[in-house]
Amino acid sequence: MSKEVERYIENFLANLMAKNPHEEEFHQAVREVVESLTPFLLKNPVYTRLKILERMTEPERVILFRVPWINDQGEVEINKGYRVQMNSAIGPYKGGLRFHPSVNLSILKFLAFEQVLKNSLTTLPMGGGKGGSDFDPKGKSDNEVMHFCQSFMTELQRHIGPDTDVPAGDIGVGGREIGFLFGQYKRLRNEFTGTLTGKGSDWGGSPLRPEATGYGTTYFAQEMLKTKGELIKGKTVVISGSGNVSQYAVEKVTQLGGKVVTLSDSNGYIYDTTGISPDKLAYVMELKNVYRGRIREYVNEYPEASYFENKRPWGVKCDIALPCATQNEIDGDEAKTLVENGCICVAEGANMPSTLEAVEVFIRSKILFGPGKAANAGGVATSGLEMTQNSMRLKWTREEVDARLHAIMQSIHAACVKHGTEPDGFVNYVKGANISGFQKVANAMIEQGLV
Ligand code: NDP
Repeated sequence: MSKEVERYIENFLANLMAKNPHEEEFHQAVREVVESLTPFLLKNPVYTRLKILERMTEPERVILFRVPWINDQGEVEINKGYRVQMNSAIGPYKGGLRFHPSVNLSILKFLAFEQVLKNSLTTLPMGGGKGGSDFDPKGKSDNEVMHFCQSFMTELQRHIGPDTDVPAGDIGVGGREIGFLFGQYKRLRNEFTGTLTGKGSDWGGSPLRPEATGYGTTYFAQEMLKTKGELIKGKTVVISGSGNVSQYAVEKVTQLGGKVVTLSDSNGYIYDTTGISPDKLAYVMELKNVYRGRIREYVNEYPEASYFENKRPWGVKCDIALPCATQNEIDGDEAKTLVENGCICVAEGANMPSTLEAVEVFIRSKILFGPGKAANAGGVATSGLEMTQNSMRLKWTREEVDARLHAIMQSIHAACVKHGTEPDGFVNYVKGANISGFQKVANAMIEQGLV
């Protein structure tokens, strides 16, 4: 790295940290982008002169609100509600809602910033945003979740709309929550529009939206493997998480002939050397989506598997790793263990699951490493397809959506190769995704003037 590049990065990050103190996740996400983008920025001074990256790291708007609701015991509860409207240069704000006790402004700003670049990569006209609450749906009754969602939407509805901001699901926000949120939006606004995505299939949802992030991540891994003449078929795959993204990653990997041997939740992981077959996956889906149980219960049903309490699955020997749970779930040492155990491909189903140290290990080892903003973009891409179907008031077939999703993942891969190939032929997907995602948004911002 030249002295000029180093100086630019340091100044940029020092300013960002002074302006946004105590927002570690946000600093981390921006650092990853700035480090890989700076040589490109310095070669194209129009972007630095017009302070495009400085503008891109300042949200266009942040909405913070009180969410009061009553629990089943008749007690008053209060949560925080947020929506970060990060960038609308190429389309309405678009990005998920996260309900998890860890949610704070730093996490939502990191997610919204990533979302801007990710949405740009999808080739669809979507800006970036993210929102949510520190509400914990775990252990709550359906009735409590409904009351919370209705209160949350009572405020949020005045800030969103089909041409303004279109939220979707994320951690803790699945089909049930989107249903309650949409119901309240429709009631208050007296309009049936595509304002939320991830809707039920009988009321505006797109075929394949639930599957899209997990399937898309697997398609992205498949594209990366192809560059090395490899296939998913016959490979051992370690997956973390056991929610939406993980479940459909297991399904697609298995369909393509790979063997998934782990799943996890925030309490621990299960290791099934015989592989998580379609029957076992159906059990996991019922356990997680209907009974809302814990992954440890898997070993009661399938005693051939083992459960490891308070552990993460990265010590398990594998060819491919798909982190699909949450941010910073692979640290530098775990990344080293994966590489030493022969892992050749990591595709991030979750957002920023690898720490900066872990990313450095993967890139230094020159294994195939697909960062979240590229590898998990299939979810938001299919949300974009849901918006299109809603606007046209028609519904495509599952096959049609799958073909479009597959084509979008291939085009994101091609963009990463175009912008990320280094002189020795190694594809740095982090650099490729950042430059490609940045360019389109940056050019739109320049064309629209200082707004
Ligand atoms: P879900 O809520 O369906 O599942 C999340 C999974 O991750 C659960 O198994 C959960 O376990 C686990 N998890 C959550 N927090 C932690 C933690 N702090 N430590 C360990 N495990 C944790 O969410 P999704 O599957 O939708 O999202 C997973 C990831 O994928 C997130 O990073 C999300 O931002 C990203 N993503 C999701 C998209 C989507 O379409 N849904 C699109 C693109 C990215 P537990 O039950 O114990 O909390």
